[in-house]
Amino acid sequence: MPPEARFTTTSSTSPTSKAPGAARSGSASDTDIQYVKGVGPGLGALLKSRGLTTVRDLLYFFPRAYEDRTRILKVTELKEGQSATVALMVRSSRQLRLRTGRTLLEVRAGDESGTLSLKWFHAPRGMESRFVPGAQIIVTGTPKRFLGSFEIIHPEISWGQSAATENVGRVVPIYTELEGISSRVLRKILWEALEKYSATLGEDLPQTLLQAHGLPRLAEAVRTIHFPPDTQVQDLIDFKAPAHRRLIYEEFLKFEFLVLKQRLKMQRERAPLFGPNGGRDAAAELEKLLPFDLTAGQKSAIAEILGDLGQPHPMNRLIQGDVGSGKTAVAFLTAGCVLAEGGQAALMAPTEILAEQHYRNATLLFGGRLNVALLTGKTPGAERTKLLARLAAGEPLLLIGTHALLEAPVEFRNLDYILIDEQHRFGVEQRRTLRHKGTRTDAAAGATQFPHTLVLTATPIPRTLALTAYGDLAISSIRELPPGRTPVVTQVVRERAARARAYERIREELRKGHQAYFIYPLVNDSEAEGFTQLKSAVAESERLQREVFPEFRVGLLHGQQRPDEKAAIMDRYKRRELDILVSTTVVEVGVDVPNATVMVIEHSERFGLSQLHQLRGRVGRGAKQSYCFLFAAERVGENTQARLEVLEETNDGFRIAEADLEIRGPGEFLGTRQSGGLPFKLANLVRDQKWLLQARDDATWLLKSDPDLQLPEHRPLKTFYEREGSLQFDRLKTS
Ligand code: ADP
Ligand code: MG
Repeated sequence: MPPEARFTTTSSTSPTSKAPGAARSGSASDTDIQYVKGVGPGLGALLKSRGLTTVRDLLYFFPRAYEDRTRILKVTELKEGQSATVALMVRSSRQLRLRTGRTLLEVRAGDESGTLSLKWFHAPRGMESRFVPGAQIIVTGTPKRFLGSFEIIHPEISWGQSAATENVGRVVPIYTELEGISSRVLRKILWEALEKYSATLGEDLPQTLLQAHGLPRLAEAVRTIHFPPDTQVQDLIDFKAPAHRRLIYEEFLKFEFLVLKQRLKMQRERAPLFGPNGGRDAAAELEKLLPFDLTAGQKSAIAEILGDLGQPHPMNRLIQGDVGSGKTAVAFLTAGCVLAEGGQAALMAPTEILAEQHYRNATLLFGGRLNVALLTGKTPGAERTKLLARLAAGEPLLLIGTHALLEAPVEFRNLDYILIDEQHRFGVEQRRTLRHKGTRTDAAAGATQFPHTLVLTATPIPRTLALTAYGDLAISSIRELPPGRTPVVTQVVRERAARARAYERIREELRKGHQAYFIYPLVNDSEAEGFTQLKSAVAESERLQREVFPEFRVGLLHGQQRPDEKAAIMDRYKRRELDILVSTTVVEVGVDVPNATVMVIEHSERFGLSQLHQLRGRVGRGAKQSYCFLFAAERVGENTQARLEVLEETNDGFRIAEADLEIRGPGEFLGTRQSGGLPFKLANLVRDQKWLLQARDDATWLLKSDPDLQLPEHRPLKTFYEREGSLQFDRLKTS
């Protein structure tokens, strides 16, 4: 009998043909994992140390991928690099000791069509003795060509002609290997756990929604995600099988309902009301003082903010726009409205350099009209005391500062408007602290009043993140740059020769009296544990000065310097006493030197696209043509090359953000906003966009029709939130 036929017959007893879940017992969520048949105390302890404590945890440990093992191939049908399953007979085996000291177990095995090698480094003791000539094995792995035939390193083996049914002859789930526990072991205990406990998984979602979208119930989805039918191979591999969709939809729906509810709750809170006309007039007055016309994007952002300030509920708004799109003007003008009505405003920036720059611009532009003050760690004691007294007395003013604003003695009488620049540099706690300073009880109304909040970001947020991680915020976007900017010419530089040409190009710019930035990922070499080939800012500034640009003046700026050192270097650069500024990413925020026309980023492959785009935004601030060179290792992979090329192709931060999300995931955008990221196990913001939008719609409907989840069909969902919802989602709240 040919091997293929043999294994098709065994699949008639495979798990799919007999639906597990018939037996009744304790529920999955309160049964200790060690009571699953085949687990026991030893494996139980190991699983627990990996975070799988209950049977439910085990059932929710979803496969990370699937392999199509429905077909057993012949050795001659194997293709290099393509995972496959073959049925073989052992011919010989031997244990070798390599020169490196490693041991190697090599097994020769084959079918009637050919032979191949199976190899294990550091094979467990005694493994060799199982491979007796003549033994039948089922082998799954990825073949590689080696000395004219195929070899498979560390294949998965099933013993016997009709190997264990959960491992072959079917679409097989692949799990993230927990240390010391293989996919095979997981499959085996999952099979047992599903059989006994999957029926005890409670259904949290209303039947109406499941039916409307044709989605399976939870128990069925969990069963088939682990032991899927053979008919859905491609859907499974793409995470688009009904079971996947159901679980993904559930994650999104539970999340969106909570985010929207949180948003609604904030919208019901009270906030000081600013007469829309008074506000508009003040903004118009300030606008007249600007040396330029506002762009359409700036205008509509201002209108949206003033609209919010004209409501008796707290604004919670994010304004996103590329570096240089003019968000600061929007911040100042709207703050002016609040001041005109007798309120106080606070603008917090992540660095002293940036806070001072804002302060200088505000006084320069609006001099006598806007009452501004600066508070940083550098503010002298006497000045500080005076300033604190003015704040406490309720003087209408815009206070610009750093984290110093968060300190306890800084108290406002009526802080009505909070502005946070470069919001991703701050944590939830810090924003909360500032918001708290503006929260007060209005004795007359007998209610608590909250301040209005505006957060600013130069990293555009992809749409799906706007609905999830930022779902509690209203968003204004400035999509255009002020006129007169020349797009930065960007080039990825990898080879030596190209690098030399880039240095020449830079030299030409410097000779014209223009300036350049060189950005490195590290401060000094000692930081580079394990990455000794990485160039550090300190060492490279010396090399650039000595070897590459001896005729120009090179300065060094990094985050480990004292604030006054940093300020001194920055000042020299601004005054053109330095031609080249070597730095780490501290210049990312808020350095405005229009004479700089060159941005060089070393090891650009180590940065996210949005971050590179932000760094690039430091040049091209005037009418002069600017250049950005993305230096990358000569041997970066194709993916990295393609990724960096996105920056060569476009200057549109919104497009770059979408590409970044696709390639690197949401972590890039969340920063310190929340340490753990989004609570999705299966859902992927790029792949599953459609379901996110669906869940969003459904959550909106649910919130309208039954906000407190009182209806019987919504009770299970309510119970879910009571049990673990708040824990899981709390860190997402922005205030
Ligand atoms: P960002 O959005 O990166 O914070 P800024 O507010 O710092 O941008 O603005 C960048 C520069 O552009 C500043 O020098 C600012 O004065 C200038 N600017 C802002 N809006 C306009 C405009 N509408 N027209 C011309 N220049 C503008
Ligand atoms: Mg800015």
